[in-house]
Amino acid sequence: MNTTKKTIGLLALQGDFAAHRKVFERLGWQTAEVRTKQELAQVDALVIPGGESTTLGKLLARIGLDTEIQERAKQGMPMFGTCAGMIMLASRVEDRPEQPTLGLMDITVARNAFGRQVESFETEIPFQESVVQGVFIRAPYVVEVTEGVEVLSKFRDKVVGVRQGNLFAIAFHPELTDDTRVHSYFAQMILESNE
Ligand code: GLN
Repeated sequence: MNTTKKTIGLLALQGDFAAHRKVFERLGWQTAEVRTKQELAQVDALVIPGGESTTLGKLLARIGLDTEIQERAKQGMPMFGTCAGMIMLASRVEDRPEQPTLGLMDITVARNAFGRQVESFETEIPFQESVVQGVFIRAPYVVEVTEGVEVLSKFRDKVVGVRQGNLFAIAFHPELTDDTRVHSYFAQMILESNE
């Protein structure tokens, strides 16, 4: 159970932030939706949910939240991106050099990388010496990591979970299962953070 006063922010411009919110509340955390700079200033960690990364990128730029998030990330704020959120954290998107991202993690991702035929699937994914259920929905994967990026999970040789310091990204959707271990991992990152 969480006993700190820290609040987890859910970027709530688009996508499945509500499902993440429920999981963190089940784990005993205080949460808040983030749509403005003022709301970002009031939280201690940020979840960037799945959704549609092109839309998310445009919305962030329009509100000017992109630069605020980059600033907080550099100060050490723990951030957790899933699926489109992983794309937003990446520095590069394969074959789409023009796509706006936050450029915070030193990774290159490929969008919709498991192929058009396979829109979504569910499979077991190794995570932290254990196995979690991974729901993949038009998911990306990581095609390039540089030194300093820790690979946390792979599926058929494809990197689907990474960590770089205070930043954590996975290609699948743990918020759509009953298994809270991936969220607990992020919660632990927040507890260990002194931002
Ligand atoms: N395919 C979406 C994108 O590229 C991501 C899908 C998701 O977040 N479930 O933005």
